[in-house]
Amino acid sequence: MAWTFYTEEQKTLAETYRKAAGEHIAPRAREIDENDRIPSDLLERLVQPPFSLTALSIPRRFGGLQMSKVEVCIVAEEIGYALPCLVPFIETAQLYTYVLSSGGTDEQQKRFLSRLAKGAKGCYALTDEGAGSDPTSMKTTAQLDGDSFVIQGKKRLITFADIADLFAVFASEDTSLGARGISAFLVEKGTPGLKLVHHCKTLGLKGHRAYDIELDGVRVPVANRIGGKGEGLRLAFKALNNTRISLSFGYVGLARKAVELAVEHARTRKVQDRPIGEFQAMSFPIVDAAIEVDAARLLSYRAAVLSERAQRHRKETSMAKAFAAQALIRAVDTANRVLGGYGGDVRYEAERYLRDAYTWISAQGTPEVQRVTVSRELLGL
Ligand SMILES: Cc1cc2nc3c(=O)[nH]c(=O)nc-3n(C[C@H](O)[C@H](O)[C@H](O)COP(=O)(O)OP(=O)(O)OC[C@H]3O[C@@H](n4cnc5c(N)ncnc54)[C@H](O)[C@@H]3O)c2cc1C
Repeated sequence: MAWTFYTEEQKTLAETYRKAAGEHIAPRAREIDENDRIPSDLLERLVQPPFSLTALSIPRRFGGLQMSKVEVCIVAEEIGYALPCLVPFIETAQLYTYVLSSGGTDEQQKRFLSRLAKGAKGCYALTDEGAGSDPTSMKTTAQLDGDSFVIQGKKRLITFADIADLFAVFASEDTSLGARGISAFLVEKGTPGLKLVHHCKTLGLKGHRAYDIELDGVRVPVANRIGGKGEGLRLAFKALNNTRISLSFGYVGLARKAVELAVEHARTRKVQDRPIGEFQAMSFPIVDAAIEVDAARLLSYRAAVLSERAQRHRKETSMAKAFAAQALIRAVDTANRVLGGYGGDVRYEAERYLRDAYTWISAQGTPEVQRVTVSRELLGL
C-alpha cells in the first residue's frame, strides 16, 4: 500500500472513509457529473456521520470531530478519490475553522462553528471580480454605518454559494490601504442585497457549482466582523496556507484513481496478443505517474505534520500544492493515453478525471501562484 507509513488508526480512518465513499458516493458520480448537481439526499448524508464533512476540523467543544491536520488530509484523499467535487465541503469548513479560531472571539466561534458542526454549509468569498491571484487589489468595500457595515461589490467563482447558509466575505474598509484595509465578515444567507448573479458552468468538477455573486448594499452587524479592521487578508492567507495541504491530498486521491485505472487497462487490454502494459511506452508513463502520486502525498504529508506542530510551513505547503497539481495532470493525462480511444468514452471515467483535474488545479491559488510563494521564500526577493 502507498500509505504504509501511516499509523494503524490512520489506516483505519482511511479505510472507513474509503468504504463509506465507495458505497454512497462513487455510484452517484456519473449522475452528479451529468446533472451538475449534488442530489439533496446525498448533500444531507455528507454532513452527517460517517462522513461529517463540515465537522472534521471543528473543535469538540463546538460539536466537531476535532481531527488532526493529517487526519483531515487522509479523509480529503479518500473523498478526492471517490468524487473530487465534494472535497470543497472539507475545504470550506476548514477555512471557517482557521479564520474563526485565529481571528474570531469565543462568542463568534461558538455561534458559527457549532452551526457548521451540525451540518450548516458555508462558502468563502475572497476572489473579487477584478482580483483573483492578487486579492489585495479587490474592489469590494465595507463602510461602517452605525452598528453595521454596508458591503458593496462583486465576487466570482464562489463554490457552493447556492447551498450556503453562511458567506465569509472579504471586503476593504479602506482601499487606499491595500492589503491592510481588507477585513473579514460573516454574512447570513438571505441577507437583503446578497444575490447570485451567474452560475459558472465549468469544464469539470461538476456538482461543486461555483457562482458569481453581487453584494449590493448588504448590511452586516458589527458583531459579524471577524478580527479587527484590516486583519482579513492575514486571516485568509493563514487559512489558505493550511487548507491548501488537504486540497493537495484531494489531488492525490484523484491522481491515485487515474493511475489505478491506467494500471487495470494496461494489464487487461491486449494488442498483438500481449497486454499493452508489456510495452514500455505504456508502462513507463504509468510508473512515472505512480512515483509522482506517492511523492505528492509525501510532500503534502510533510506540510501537514509541520502545520500540526505549528511550525512555519508556507514554502512546504506551496511546494506540495504545486507538485500535487502537476502529479494530478500527469496522472489523468497518462490514464487517457493508456486507454487509447476509450479515453474519451464516458463509461471509462478517464475523461471526467481529465476535466475535473484541469478545472480543479486553480482553486485556492494557481500552480504559478504557489511557485511565486516558494520563490519568495527560497530567494528572499
Ligand atoms: C474550481 C474553482 C473553485 C473556486 N472556488 C472559489 C471560492 O469558493 N471562493 C473564492 O474566493 N474563489 C474561488 N475560486 C477562484 C480561485 O481562487 C481563482 O480562480 C484563483 O485564485 C486564480 O484567480 P483568477 O482566476 O482571477 O486568475 P488570475 O489572477 O487572473 O490569473 C490568470 C493567470 O495569471 C497567472 N498569474 C497571476 N499572477 C501571477 C504571478 N504573480 N506570476 C505568474 N503568474 C501569475 C495565474 O497563474 C493564471 O494562470 C475558485 C476557482 C476554481 C477554479
